[in-house]
Amino acid sequence: MFSGSEEETTVNSTVKPDISRERSAELYEKSKTYFPGGVNSPVRAFKSVHGTPLFIQKGDGCFIWDADGNQFIDFCASWGPLILGHNNSAVREKVIEAMQNGMSFGAPTALENQLAELILKNNKYIRKLRFTSSGTEAVMSAVRLARGYTKRDKIIKFEGCYHGHLDSLLVKAGSGLVTFGETSSAGIPKSFADETIVVPLNNIQAVEEAFEQFSDQIAAVIIEPVPANNGLLLQTQEFLEFLRRICTKNKSLLIFDEVISGFRVGFEGAAGYYNIYPDIITYGKIIGGGLPVGMYGASEEIMGMISPDGPVYQAGTLSGNPVAMAAGIAQLTELSKSNFYKDLNNKTFEFTESIQRYATAKNYKFKVFTIGSIFWFAFTDRESISNADEIDASSMEKFKIMHRELLNRGVYLGPSGYEVGFVSSTHSKIELEKAKRAIFESLDIVFRGSRA
Ligand SMILES: *Cc1c(COP(=O)(O)O)cnc(C)c1O
Repeated sequence: MFSGSEEETTVNSTVKPDISRERSAELYEKSKTYFPGGVNSPVRAFKSVHGTPLFIQKGDGCFIWDADGNQFIDFCASWGPLILGHNNSAVREKVIEAMQNGMSFGAPTALENQLAELILKNNKYIRKLRFTSSGTEAVMSAVRLARGYTKRDKIIKFEGCYHGHLDSLLVKAGSGLVTFGETSSAGIPKSFADETIVVPLNNIQAVEEAFEQFSDQIAAVIIEPVPANNGLLLQTQEFLEFLRRICTKNKSLLIFDEVISGFRVGFEGAAGYYNIYPDIITYGKIIGGGLPVGMYGASEEIMGMISPDGPVYQAGTLSGNPVAMAAGIAQLTELSKSNFYKDLNNKTFEFTESIQRYATAKNYKFKVFTIGSIFWFAFTDRESISNADEIDASSMEKFKIMHRELLNRGVYLGPSGYEVGFVSSTHSKIELEKAKRAIFESLDIVFRGSRA
């Protein structure tokens, strides 16, 4: 069944012999009878890569094991939250300690104060916050807050940014530079999409045109300041600063959706990385240490609009859940230690740079884009890719081969070429060296057939 690479096996190959995926395949057959596509979030279904999903049994450090007992060096990291690797002992112990006192109260606990204090003391870009249970919820609430605060309806978003699955942002560009969005999912009224204006990333002119047309109707501009959900589309400092200026000038709010970049490119996320003050910031993923937590924060004045202080309603039965808060506290405590990010980012840089060197030396049409401990493998010869249009969709065929070859060599990447990878503090030099060898071999296989 996985014979695709057998002929490629060489003496030095890192291919793992006797790989079986029987148990995963059985579980998948079952799960397809329970869940649409057999999964509880679509990308997990492996539709963008070869093969079928691996069912994961356990994780420890930078490793995961599937249901058949195969071990992988993991760069998916649960899509970003696990910056300390899997099953971190400090997080686990804090969670167990919290669980001894019960799972949820629907009343305030000291743990919420502790996590808030840890965040606010180390982040000069926000003054007050509210916890939610997911990134989507955080963004949905931030958008409502921006509309409530400005008493305006329209939102500008960028093609190639993902903000969770809220109706008003599941919207993609139509044709033209500045467009009313078209819904990117069935089930969203066109009238919702009409409140969302979609423009290309890193394009000053497009944003200016949108403001010329709709200036006094625009509640907010929302952007992933480090767009990392559709490849890694790094923006220029200049563009992000321009967004700050044009929002201020038009009395619109600037929302940084930092659900991925928050606590990833630094403790203060992208706001800190670029030193730009957005009006509202959303966090998720890392903030919960692997448990479901999201959050949005802003100035006291803007957060004063949130109920019960103000007229913008937002709530959650499990918001600020004590077990999830405990995980967040333990994780962020580790991240706030000095040199945490410096070490992690340096390690990632060495890793990605040597992969790039290999590919360049072999003349492969391949680039590794990276920031902090995020990386993205792109089959391109462009020096930079900063908007969605610059991604060559046909290059994803190469990623599919790479993904399969890496799985056969014990390296797990998220199952789509549009997804980024994450390095954690537990990826040691030894594992990164092993991963590199597997990556080199996989690249050789990807490019074997295609060179003229
Ligand atoms: C993951 C993500 C979301 C959605 O968060 P969920 O917890 O999956 O709902 C929103 N925005 C960005 C930038 C994300 O990366």
